[in-house]
Amino acid sequence: MTVKSIFLSLIIYKFMKKIFFVFLFISSVFCQEVFCNNPPKYIFIFIGDGMGLNQVFLTEKYIEYLKKEKLIFLDPSWKFGLAKTDCLDSFKITDSGAAGTAIACGNKTNFGMIGMSKLKSFQSIAEYLKKKNFKIGILTSVPLNHATPACFYGHEPTRRNYDNLTDELIASHFDFFAGGGFLIGNADTSKNIFKSSDQVLAKLKENKYNLVLNSAVLNENKKISILPAIIIDTVIWNKQKKIKKAYIDEKNSLPYAIDFPEYENKLAVYTETVINSLKNDTGFFIMVEGGKIDWACHDNDAATAIGEVIAFNDAVKKAYQFYLKNPDNTLIIVTADHETGGLTLGTGYDEHSRSSTNSYAFYPNKLALQKKSLLFSDSATVAKYNYDAQVGWTTNEHSGLPVGIWTIGEGSENFIGIYENSEIMNKILKQIILK
Ligand SMILES: [Zn+2]
Repeated sequence: MTVKSIFLSLIIYKFMKKIFFVFLFISSVFCQEVFCNNPPKYIFIFIGDGMGLNQVFLTEKYIEYLKKEKLIFLDPSWKFGLAKTDCLDSFKITDSGAAGTAIACGNKTNFGMIGMSKLKSFQSIAEYLKKKNFKIGILTSVPLNHATPACFYGHEPTRRNYDNLTDELIASHFDFFAGGGFLIGNADTSKNIFKSSDQVLAKLKENKYNLVLNSAVLNENKKISILPAIIIDTVIWNKQKKIKKAYIDEKNSLPYAIDFPEYENKLAVYTETVINSLKNDTGFFIMVEGGKIDWACHDNDAATAIGEVIAFNDAVKKAYQFYLKNPDNTLIIVTADHETGGLTLGTGYDEHSRSSTNSYAFYPNKLALQKKSLLFSDSATVAKYNYDAQVGWTTNEHSGLPVGIWTIGEGSENFIGIYENSEIMNKILKQIILK
């Protein structure tokens, strides 16, 4: 080899090396943002209202005792993060309105507000994705104009503007709603719009919603072809008329699983139906709220809360089955809006000896003896079950604890870490916008 040819080879080698690194750089940039990233087009967010970490892990221990199937989102294949839940007010502890707004709209707001701040109205992820031709489904076990579902379609200075929220739900023309019904009235009663649920149903009909008033009529395929559709289980409302304690919201929600086990799978049936009905090539966004975990925890009723976490998990399982068939473009997020009740596992109630191991114990098995919620029982009875299980509560309201975020599927690794609940929406959208 001559000196000239060695020199030439060296130049060619250097040139090729440069080209290689330039190619490597370009491909790594594009891999991250375009080619190698598979943006999720089937997005689920499950919100266990009031479902703090202790509610989740008490349920896990209870399930272990009963040797039932484990909570699906605690499987090690799911990623985990923590979301801080503070609202904008100086007292920090949020309600479902401010927390739901943070999750749905990516903005913190004040206590009790829905989809807006004192300064402006926000766009929710559901509203944004609808414009991108995603199909939208909003499901809950409580009234459809309750705070959490309302944050995905509504914009009100107070969550108690139920009639205005109903009007906003109708105007949203989202593709699928399912839940317990509607609360009636506005905070300023002189501005009420509806006198009864029948008037709400009439307006939904006028606006071409396909009304399904008893989900028991759904066929085996669990699919509704005419959209937009809305499932409101009026048959269940009638059943709940027998409730001893007259909660105004109660008759517009699904019954507690512990009281009516035959309805335990309703949220799961809704979830399966909305998946089958909204599946399309562009994509869907589905929010499912387990709303009565919160209600049971406001009542400091641990056994009832466990039943609601299990019913919520049954709904998550339907999304998980869908994910297994569509792993490359599905994202499932399971989280909570806040913790309710300041639930404690272990109360140290053994007064005989502080050094006794009984002071360092809780007994979830004792909660399996409770057969009815507080609605069909009384405070002393429920308190006794809690006491025997050595499960304690510090409040009848919400606590300021952070909540868990469990994710699986495309982009799930973006949700690892500790962050504000208002970052969840941007973490989802960052992936979609790259599409
Ligand atoms: Zn809540």
